[in-house]
Amino acid sequence: MRSSILQTALTDGRIRCEVCRWRCELAPGETGCCRVRSHRDGAIMADADSLVGAATIGPIEDHRLWHFFPDAQALGVGSFGTPLVPDIGLSSAHPYVVPTPGARELAAERVVQFAEQRLCRGVVWTYNDPAVTFEWVLDGVKLGRAASRFTAITTSGYFAPAAFALLAPYLDGMRLDVYGFSDRAYQTLTGYRDWRAIFKLAAEARQRWNIHMELVLHLAAGINDSDTEVATLGKWMRVALGALTPLHILPTTAEADQVQRAITAAKAAGVSYVFGPGNNQPTRCPQCTWAVVERGDGPTQVHGVVDDACENCGTALGLRLSLFRRNVRYDAAA
Ligand code: SF4
Repeated sequence: MRSSILQTALTDGRIRCEVCRWRCELAPGETGCCRVRSHRDGAIMADADSLVGAATIGPIEDHRLWHFFPDAQALGVGSFGTPLVPDIGLSSAHPYVVPTPGARELAAERVVQFAEQRLCRGVVWTYNDPAVTFEWVLDGVKLGRAASRFTAITTSGYFAPAAFALLAPYLDGMRLDVYGFSDRAYQTLTGYRDWRAIFKLAAEARQRWNIHMELVLHLAAGINDSDTEVATLGKWMRVALGALTPLHILPTTAEADQVQRAITAAKAAGVSYVFGPGNNQPTRCPQCTWAVVERGDGPTQVHGVVDDACENCGTALGLRLSLFRRNVRYDAAA
């Protein structure tokens, strides 16, 4: 447990936590919306700091990062806490809400050492939302970079801009979980209305830092699955992130035909790679449809890719395959 590195004392004795967009103003003894940061001993304390909620070793694809070091072994590790409002909409998708008694403590340094010992190419900070266990994750991505591991997060994007500006220079990849592209969808599914700020952060992640991004749209029938909403999201992705940014459409309360319709709408809006819920979907060259990444029951296979371009037709693919080549282009060929 440690004191937050981003906090502001207010004149009435409260302290504002500046880590995520809720910017909770906490009186002594109060706990923030995330339930893992509180005002104690004259400071905002990160109560779940270094506490492990879950850890796994497995293929990077398990984290729905499909164009990011395909078939690499990754250490996925997470703590506790989410900025999504409990008991609203999709918060049940984030089960690690409060620390469980006896949760193991693992300093970021040990997480990275563990990844090295187990021959993982990188660490994905996941399971809970890294925005609310910010200090631990910031230490981890810095140490991961220093150890030549790739660094990635999965997040709903609630980082405060100042927090993300500290993290972004050390991030290689990011899976952004989104809940629609409208006030109504975000209010209904997350309890948070300022969704535009989340998409602005995503655009900055791509345009300023060239972080590899993949979006997961959690599809909820009657809330965010209209053709218009999905197409508007797709058009925004094409312009702000580049058409080669993958979109994964996963059902929360939607049926298979609704997912298929959403996939069609996103593709029609210009997103080159749109994946549904199954694990065995290949990546096809958006130009010649050559299967360049095959996913099946065994290991993922990358073939027909030369210098991030399709071997068959030479079209740029937007795959992140190297730790040292960070200048991947995500805009599709004209
Ligand atoms: S991390 Fe976010 S939700 Fe948690 S206390 Fe800080 S501002 Fe509030």
